[in-house]
Amino acid sequence: MGTKQHTPRVYIKRPISIGDSVQLPQEKAHHLTRVLRASEGTSITLFNGQGGEYAGILAPARKGEAVVFVQSYVDVDRESRLKVDLLMGLCKRDAMSAALRRATELGVTSITPLITDFSDVSPKQLPSLRTKWLATIESSAEQSGRTQLPELHEAQSFAGILGPIRDLNAQAFIAHPQGERLTETRSTNENVVLAIGPEGGFSDEEVDKACDAGFKTLSLGPRILRAETAPAAALAILQHRAGDL
Ligand code: SAH
Repeated sequence: MGTKQHTPRVYIKRPISIGDSVQLPQEKAHHLTRVLRASEGTSITLFNGQGGEYAGILAPARKGEAVVFVQSYVDVDRESRLKVDLLMGLCKRDAMSAALRRATELGVTSITPLITDFSDVSPKQLPSLRTKWLATIESSAEQSGRTQLPELHEAQSFAGILGPIRDLNAQAFIAHPQGERLTETRSTNENVVLAIGPEGGFSDEEVDKACDAGFKTLSLGPRILRAETAPAAALAILQHRAGDL
């Protein structure tokens, strides 16, 4: 059984033990007390990505602050058994956030923003974007009931990921509208690398190079999906194929 839907879930990066009084960071305290109007005695779920989650209640606290008194440990695991490393072509701010949000909800294991031929983001913007992406991933994990946070790697160039792919014990896919359809079924305990292009798609050269490096093309059907939709669709079919949905 999951937690009740209306119990707010909060990710906190620290060890948690039963009996702890955990002071929440300011912005989380603000969200709980001002936006959600949570008050003393409200049930709160905490998790720290180390497995499971913790049930607690809001303890008395000064105005604007929030302290969770941890009452019990709940041994749940809502992580996908299919390990998927997403290589996400860098796209415009909102599309990228939406892509990361959906991929996190679907249970992606790690995300690497990918600098591709048609990605229109200047590398100078990357540090501030990274801060925003981390916040997006965290709030998606909180909201979706995940018990771990996907790892956000530093952005990499497309060329940079092709070398290491050969050494990974993983099935690598590059989503491409003219790609192959998935047919065979697979076990859950495999690793998948999944490349999704930016709004402008991958260049033909990129698709060719990826195939040379061991990627298989992957079709997501006859309709063109937006860059923020494609990772969710791909994750859903890969997880279904692995018996994970
Ligand atoms: N104009 C681009 C489409 C980009 S859509 C083109 O024609 O290639 C952004 C990304 O989503 C694509 O690069 C691809 O990785 C993925 N995608 C969208 N629709 C898809 C489909 N039907 N099959 C496979 N991948 C798709």
